[in-house]
Amino acid sequence: MKLIDLHCDTLTGLKRRNQVLRENNMHLDLMKMKKGDQLVQCFAVFVHQKHCVDNGISPYDFYKEHKDLFYREMEANRDLIAPAFSSADILRNQENGLMSGILTIEAGEPLEGKTERVEEFKKDGVRMITLTWNFENEIGFSNLTGGHLKPKGREIVDAMNQLGVLVDVSHLSDEGFWDCIELAGNRFPVVASHSDARALCNHTRNLTDDMLKALGNTDGVVGINYCADFLTEGSKDATMEAVLNHALHLIDKAGVDHVAFGSDYDGIGSTLEWKDVSGTPELLEYMHKKISWEDLEKITHKNVLRVFS
Ligand SMILES: [Zn+2]
Repeated sequence: MKLIDLHCDTLTGLKRRNQVLRENNMHLDLMKMKKGDQLVQCFAVFVHQKHCVDNGISPYDFYKEHKDLFYREMEANRDLIAPAFSSADILRNQENGLMSGILTIEAGEPLEGKTERVEEFKKDGVRMITLTWNFENEIGFSNLTGGHLKPKGREIVDAMNQLGVLVDVSHLSDEGFWDCIELAGNRFPVVASHSDARALCNHTRNLTDDMLKALGNTDGVVGINYCADFLTEGSKDATMEAVLNHALHLIDKAGVDHVAFGSDYDGIGSTLEWKDVSGTPELLEYMHKKISWEDLEKITHKNVLRVFS
């Protein structure tokens, strides 16, 4: 079954480890995606604030370098994948026998507090921005510290909503989450690209039942994260049973139309029972024990296609 994955850190991994997208020894490459019947991969430019400072590069320049890498990889592998900027592009690529890559940004630091950069990044092809990673930035605060969106952050979120760049609340503080729900005002979808259920695993990276309901009410989606720390307290192994349990809980609280996948491949150190992206069919087959194929179709791709459109 075709799967759309809302988040991976592969792009940053490629550059750091000097590897290529076509075939590598990480969780995700094009050969493994093909084997796993992947439809779309969102490729995040993961911007680590401290790494930028330590290496004397601005978050903006760091983003530019990785954006260029994304397009170089798309071009070098045009027999397998093409960039997509909308649901229509995804379907067109699929008709042409191609997978799709969507450019996203994890952590709002490259905006450097400049609201006009939302439009610039949209022109670059960016379709989703995770507002923070683990650090405070010009937009707001992470789950580690808590705190409301800053005035500039509210302005940036408004601009993203108006321009159609998805607001991703994974990593954001609880206060910031509720600010985004308020700003969305049931007119714009709010997305948590890679977060699980806090009721099953008490971690602030996960969402409470009230948050899941509110996110569902905006018509957004929450992407199931495969990180063992967010699936099972005290575990280093991501099991198919844990993924299924979180999926069932997310479906129960957010609604079956508001659940998706956000693997976090190449951003997590956990051992995965299904190994990597090539093992997706095995994972889905297991999930079918308790979820119908009709509902799995929604979770794997239909829900995200709706949000992207
Ligand atoms: Zn992340």
